[in-house]
Amino acid sequence: MHTQHHPLRGAPLGTQREIVSFHYGRRNGGRKVYVQASLHADELPGMLVAHHLREHLLALESAGRLRAEFVVVPVANPIGLGQTILRKQEGRFDLAAGDNFNRHYPALFDNVLPLLEGQLGSDAPTNAQLVRSALREAVNQLPEDTELMSLRKTLLGLACDAEVVLDLHCDCESLMHLYTGTALWPQAEPLARCMGAQASLLASESGDNPFDEACSRIWWQLEAHYRGQHPVPLACLAVTLELRGERDVSHPLAGADAQALIEFFVQRGLIEGEPAAQRALLEPATPLTGTDVIHAPASGLVVYLRELGEHIQTGEVVAEVIDPLSGAVHRLASRTSGLLFARETQRFTTSGRSLCKIAGAVPVRQGKLSSE
Ligand SMILES: [Zn+2]
Repeated sequence: MHTQHHPLRGAPLGTQREIVSFHYGRRNGGRKVYVQASLHADELPGMLVAHHLREHLLALESAGRLRAEFVVVPVANPIGLGQTILRKQEGRFDLAAGDNFNRHYPALFDNVLPLLEGQLGSDAPTNAQLVRSALREAVNQLPEDTELMSLRKTLLGLACDAEVVLDLHCDCESLMHLYTGTALWPQAEPLARCMGAQASLLASESGDNPFDEACSRIWWQLEAHYRGQHPVPLACLAVTLELRGERDVSHPLAGADAQALIEFFVQRGLIEGEPAAQRALLEPATPLTGTDVIHAPASGLVVYLRELGEHIQTGEVVAEVIDPLSGAVHRLASRTSGLLFARETQRFTTSGRSLCKIAGAVPVRQGKLSSE
């Protein structure tokens, strides 16, 4: 294991933050795994999973069982961790610019094309290595005028050439679920089984380029661009794993999650070992367009009528928003049939705020699919 320190540029005078990455094993035939936690800095279950995962990786490295380089960044967002306001952590949005820390990653397609000019041939694995090399160069050329841009460039630089990228998040109150590219589902399904995901939400483009898509979408863009000329494989399985709710920080959960990740890596041949018996897929994957996000039509007190994990039918009332001054009760019904998998934690809402999510199989939304 070795440790790398990546100082962020653009910090205010007299201050300095850094990303710390831990590297296990050696890159073997180009194989690399990247795991980061708490890009939304106040989403902490992943930080504890990374802590447990590091112990596993250290032991596996000593035993000579790692077949890839594993890079772990347990604290992906020191900027957000530093944003404590009146005892509350603001880890989702950058206070300097208002940006969501997991949106607006650079889309590298246009940057990479000129670098690949005349490079690709007829062998898909060789092409994948050429694309990875071009991605590293494209990320190197990105500007880093602000501390936030420097953070994005650093994280993308660590992840862009990995074959597996796992971005560990959590929701407010939630079941285990994941987001990934539609084309990646065959590769992601074993991960969903290992983790016990109760919703697997698929999109080719969810909007505003979150971290996982910045790593993976380029591959299906290049595959389409060069189709019929040069084969380009989908060589990056990037997944946003939502490790339940923000208060689900415990050793039993994190220990089991880290063990499940190791199980997945063994199944994928990234760690030497006997694969465990395949676990059941708890729920089928659904399109992200099929997830109904219920919004508050007015400000008021939020009362949920249904619990996480309940299957909801179209038209069923899931929550109420109550105005105790006028006595008005807004009854909020689901537009889809599916599993209620996430709810907002706060029980007071402003008008327009998203409150809960139901994973349905039939599209009910279009346009930008990820919530702010
Ligand atoms: Zn998040």
